[in-house]
Amino acid sequence: MSTPAALPRAELIRRLGTPPEQGAWDLAVIGGGCVGLGVALDAAARGLSVVLLEAEDFAKGTSSRATKLAHGGVRYLAQGDLALVREALHERSALLANAPHVAAPLPFVMPAYRWWERGFYGAGLKAYDLLAGSRGLGATEWLGEAAARRLVPGVRLQGPQGRLQGGVRYWDGQFDDARLALLLARTAATKGALLLNHAEVTALQREHGQLRGVVVTDRETGTEHRVAARCVVNAAGVWVDRLTALDHDEGAPPPTAPARVAPSQGVHLVVDRRFWPGSHALLVPKTEDGRVLFAVPWLGKTVLGTTDSPRDDAPLEPEARADEVGFILREAGRYLSQAPGPDDVRAVWVGLRPLVKPSGGSDGDTKSISREHTVWVSRSGLVSVTGGKWTTYRAMAEDVLARCMAAGLLPRRPAGVTAALRLVGAPARPDPARSMAAPPGEHLYGSEAEALRALPGTTRWLAHDADSGAGVLSEAMVRFAVRFELARTVEDVLARRSRLLFLDARAAAAVAPAVAALVAEETGRDPTLEAFTALAAQYTRLPAGLPTREP
Ligand SMILES: Cc1cc2nc3c(=O)[nH]c(=O)nc-3n(C[C@H](O)[C@H](O)[C@H](O)COP(=O)(O)OP(=O)(O)OC[C@H]3O[C@@H](n4cnc5c(N)ncnc54)[C@H](O)[C@@H]3O)c2cc1C
Repeated sequence: MSTPAALPRAELIRRLGTPPEQGAWDLAVIGGGCVGLGVALDAAARGLSVVLLEAEDFAKGTSSRATKLAHGGVRYLAQGDLALVREALHERSALLANAPHVAAPLPFVMPAYRWWERGFYGAGLKAYDLLAGSRGLGATEWLGEAAARRLVPGVRLQGPQGRLQGGVRYWDGQFDDARLALLLARTAATKGALLLNHAEVTALQREHGQLRGVVVTDRETGTEHRVAARCVVNAAGVWVDRLTALDHDEGAPPPTAPARVAPSQGVHLVVDRRFWPGSHALLVPKTEDGRVLFAVPWLGKTVLGTTDSPRDDAPLEPEARADEVGFILREAGRYLSQAPGPDDVRAVWVGLRPLVKPSGGSDGDTKSISREHTVWVSRSGLVSVTGGKWTTYRAMAEDVLARCMAAGLLPRRPAGVTAALRLVGAPARPDPARSMAAPPGEHLYGSEAEALRALPGTTRWLAHDADSGAGVLSEAMVRFAVRFELARTVEDVLARRSRLLFLDARAAAAVAPAVAALVAEETGRDPTLEAFTALAAQYTRLPAGLPTREP
């Protein structure tokens, strides 16, 4: 049995001001999304001393709001970006191998309604297989009409461009993004890194124009701490520009560097499995307005999405617009035999892609902005990174550390240590038939399931899967979240350790008081139930002005 390490917050705070050697940490990372966590894990695995500071909670930003696909990017293949696709396919394979308890292969079907679609899309996907090489998850297959109907029983036979003629089946990967982020954090902790959530970096410390560390505010107590570090990485995702604006001497005006991030909003709707039964996902490569549409089975529900809408601001909890929700419901109605309406939506969640702003300015169409990442080093030595995608977090981390080392901010240590680094709880022999479509349960804990079962309340279920009646959240899971997964609030538990807020926001609101009592018992603190209740209301609320269901 793997025994999880307890990470008491008081002890973490105490360690903040006492770096392991020579009065400073080797590396301080700002931001606990997949990129910052990937950097922290890689650096710690190379033997460097690392502290990571996250203003909210690990994966509270974009990294819990992805479509959850570990993919090469079929869309980028169409744009001819072969290097990007090849790298992502390589990383897809590493992600699935290193965290098999929270990631699994996922078959997709692209339905064909016009005579040329099967051949056209199939040829492109065969090229995708070729780029994946020995890391392929399954061969692309052309499907006749009967086979397509069997594999995706929820697909509409009379589609927008005619009758279903068949389709193409191909393979990608799927994961639980927030749980994977937590595993990155916990694995980094096993390598000696100090990771603290609810700890906001409010200032950068400079001396003679050179960065010497950060000032962090413990959001639970309001206490400020100075953290000395030889190298500082800014991995604040869509908020990266806010941190670069802090990179100036005390009393001097903030730098006037142009913004690097062009946020792009993506909305997902969650509906019951009956709207998209079976184990395959749906990908419509080109909807009426050229966007893609996904219907993906995930943790006992179906995720529908997504959109790609530019915005100028970056709120922590963005709200979906009526046109975005309308687009997803309308397009779902064109491809799903049972069209979901607004009343069928169990949860709506919105994320912001940190896209890299083109230097010549954007024409406002974020679909065409590159999904590649960018790393830059300021004169003071602040290393900033943004862009990319979840699938490539590990390669991005290697790139960031290479830049830190090239700039002389970190001692040189060879790369590649995380390529086959199995994350905390990774089972020795993963089930080859595993799937992320099943409702959440003990299987997501991998080799730590036994430790979970040793906690009080293993069979006291707080929430159940609506279809199967299986328990999806136990009292023991809440205790595990607080004791071993650094959860501090009701939201930390219900949004990111359990995914109930994302799967069924009303069910999450209903169970919140019971979770609050357990979190309070475990932490001895106010678990901020009211804040969660307000958030859950936002995740159930659809914007005004949606068209009603067509008869
Ligand atoms: C709708 C949507 C769908 C997507 N689908 C996929 C997909 O299927 N597959 C895929 O590979 N990728 C996908 N992506 C992309 C992927 O999710 C993102 O590229 C990735 O999560 C970005 O991670 P990050 O670490 O850069 O940012 P974030 O996850 O946002 O992390 C940044 C963190 O910095 C913290 N922070 C900010 N300021 C401070 C401060 N002052 N002090 C301390 N901390 C601070 C924030 O709280 C935040 O947690 C999708 C993105 C979106 C929006």
